[in-house]
Parts: sequence; C-alpha cells; structure tokens
Amino acid sequence: MTPDAVTMDKIVSLCKRRGFIFQSSEIYGGLASTYDYGHYGVLLKSNVKSEWWRSNVQQRDDMVALDAAILMHPRTWEASGHLEGFTDPLVQCLGECKRRWRADHLREAQPEGELKCPVCGGELSEPRNFNLMFETHMGPVQDEGSRIYLRPETAQGIFVNFKNVMQFARKKPPFGIAQVGKSFRNEITPGNFIFRTREFEQMEIEFFVAPATAGEWHGRWMEDRMRWYTDLGLRADHLQLREHGPEELSHYSSATSDIEYLFPMGWSELEGIANRGDFDLSQHAEYSREKMDFVDPGTGERYVPHVIEPSAGADRGTLAFMVDAYDEEQVEGRERVVLRFHPRLAPVKVAVLPLVNKDGQPELAREVYEDLRARMSAEFDTGGSIGKRYRRQDEIGTPWGVTVDHQTMEDRTVTLRDRDTLDQTRIAIGEVGDELQRRLAAPWRSPKLD
Ligand code: ATP
Repeated sequence: MTPDAVTMDKIVSLCKRRGFIFQSSEIYGGLASTYDYGHYGVLLKSNVKSEWWRSNVQQRDDMVALDAAILMHPRTWEASGHLEGFTDPLVQCLGECKRRWRADHLREAQPEGELKCPVCGGELSEPRNFNLMFETHMGPVQDEGSRIYLRPETAQGIFVNFKNVMQFARKKPPFGIAQVGKSFRNEITPGNFIFRTREFEQMEIEFFVAPATAGEWHGRWMEDRMRWYTDLGLRADHLQLREHGPEELSHYSSATSDIEYLFPMGWSELEGIANRGDFDLSQHAEYSREKMDFVDPGTGERYVPHVIEPSAGADRGTLAFMVDAYDEEQVEGRERVVLRFHPRLAPVKVAVLPLVNKDGQPELAREVYEDLRARMSAEFDTGGSIGKRYRRQDEIGTPWGVTVDHQTMEDRTVTLRDRDTLDQTRIAIGEVGDELQRRLAAPWRSPKLD
C-alpha cells in the first residue's frame, strides 16, 4: 500500500470498531477532545509505556524511576515559570464564526501579511496570552489561598524530588529520573484525535549532568530516542529530528530538537529533547531556599547539574505506532485491514483458534491457549468462520494465529500463521510457546518497507 492510504478517519473508525479508543462520555454527546481507552487500546498503550521503561530504566544503570503526585505545591509553578509564561497566543475571529485560534499555528499556514480566520476569512482580535494550566481548589474553601493546578508536565515533579533521589537512590551525575504520568493543558485548539488533547500522558526523563558535558549528552539522547522508535518498528523515513530555531526556543532551553513523525496531517512533534541548562534546579533552589547543587566527592567541584530532557507523549506515541502499522491489502480477492505492529507492541501476541467448534477441537485449543497465556497476552476465539476470526485478529494487529484442526487431534501439531507473510507452518504443540518467545525477542522490521 502507499503510505498515504492511512487517514486519521480510518484510524479513528478502526479504534472504535475494535474497541481501542472511544469518545469520552459518548452517551452524553461526548466531551470535546477527550478519549477513553478500551481493552486493546489499554494493552497497546501499556506496551508502549513498558517498552519505554524497559529501554530507559531496566536496561540502564544510570536511571531511577519516580511517580510524583499530579497536584503539587503552587509555588512549584511560580518557580518553573509556568504561572507567568506557560501561555499560547490566543486570537478570536471577529467575523462570522467567532472561532478561537492559536496565532502561532495560523502564522505557520499564513507566513505573510495580516492573519485571517482560516474558516470564514474574518479579521482576528489582537493576540492575548492564554495560560494553559487548569486550575482547581484544594479543600472546602475556594479562595486565593486554596488555588492549585493540575500539572501541565510531569517534569516539575522530578525537579522538586531531585535532592531526595540523589540522597536516597545514591546517584550522582550523570544520572536520570524517569517518570510516566498524566498531564493537563487547557489547549486552545486540541485535535487530530489523540494527538492533542487536554488530558494526556507523558513519558519524561530529566537527565542530570555536569555542565561541561551537557552538549554531548544532548546529542546522545537524540540518538538514543530516535533509535527507540525505529527499534520498535517506526519507519525511519517517517521520522525526523528538527532543531528549534532561536525564536521557537522555550525560556529555559538553550537547545531543543523535536522528534517528528509524518502523521496523516503532516510532520508533527512526537517528542521534544531539550537542553534545559540549570534553569529548573536553580529556580527551585531560589524559591524553596533548598540547595540543589552537587559536590563531586572526587574533585570537590560544586555545581548545579544541567538537565537534558527527553519528553515524549504516550498517547502521541501510541497514535504514531498505529498510523505506521496501518495497512490495507487484497488477499484472495478480499480486502484485509491489518495493523502491522512490532510484536512486542501488539496488544495480543497470539490467537488460538479451533478450526471447527466440535470434535474435541475447542477443548484441545483451550488447553493450548491456557498454556500460552501464562507466557504472553493471548486470545481464544471460537466465534464465526476461520476467515472472519483471522480478519478480526489482523485488525487488532495480532502477529500470530495458532489453529487447532483435525490433524492436531491425530498428531498434536498445530498450524502457526504469520500475520504479515500469511505463511502457515506446522509445529508441535509443545514447541509453540518457545517458538513464539523466540520470535518476540528477534529484531523486527516493518513489512511496509518491503
Ligand atoms: P506542541 O508544540 O505540540 O504543543 P509542546 O512542544 O508544547 O507540544 P512539550 O511541552 O515538549 O510539548 O511536551 C512533550 C511531549 O508531550 C510532546 O512531544 C507530546 O508528545 C506530548 N504532549 C504535549 N502536549 C500534548 C497534548 N496536548 N496532547 C497530547 N500529547 C501532548
């Protein structure tokens, strides 16, 4: 298939049809740009997150995990600059449609002249800075003193715990703290399904290094994070690193590069990798009056560590993996839709299917299934024709199918079907588990590249 056969509409409808992702509060007409993950969506996103943990924490010696609270002391957001500066330029159409827009996004599409409303062509108001933080109140009294915020990024939870971690996890630079969790931003223009929502999950690392080494670590993290996506099957020609220009850099950053993916709506950010210098730790040191510096026991050198931040979106990542995996093809005159996930990301690794629902086949298939599900996510399906069951599994991206048939009853072999090549091989029941585990561990490359 050509890469552009995938559209966002096809992804949205597949997600609903197969129970990956639903509109939130749908029975009440839905809440704009908020989504609920169903069974396969939960499994898929959870696999994305566990691959992230595996590569960034389990397989490294220089990283520890953290799970900070969403609600934080409000001073945090003064120190971080979010209260003052976490704003987007909001403009409103003064013409017929009265829609609200982000002026910076409109400028990308209309590089010259006065900005106009892209829907009705109306004039626009002067831009005003709109703060993206959601406010709420803590406790029963709603006054100035009770005002708190839903965190707009997980990063600050890491910075305020820097001293705790350094002391109790016995780490010293270079080391990192990794965290996955929900963040909230009152985005002016959410959209493109789960690409930009007001509630989303981030997978963030703050990596603390000696100041003189920050540039080098920034480069290493850019390489590592690009490799993570390609190792998990994203096509390299659909990924790019884009360096921020000086006008685009956040107030805290001396250099940022975005990893971008070629989504159906064009190249868009998947992850930002910023060199934040000592901005965050110095700010928290000033506002909290706690020292945030590190004294090297070897050299006696004292410094505030610099920070490299690879900050990824779990939902955006999940969307990219779905878009990249989506494929359509003709098989024996019939169209099949298939999600060609990397097997480690696939929500279900293997489906066990009795060919017919009689003659002892379902019972034996159930035994095979129970054996396999102890080792990996598996499904047992007896409903409908075998073709229909395969199509269902193809659509959720299950890489392997095990079929129990009349021959199984005689010689205890099953057929093992491969989602991508459609090859069917005969294999002894006792060998299926090991064979699948071997395939799960093997390097993988998207068949869409062939
Ligand atoms: P954008 O320019 O798209 O608004 P950003 O540069 O503000 O994103 P960061 O603050 O760098 O984003 O956040 C890090 C990551 O968190 C992003 O790369 C993205 O994957 C994810 N993310 C940020 N905002 C959202 C959102 N509204 N919905 C879903 N994911 C998001």
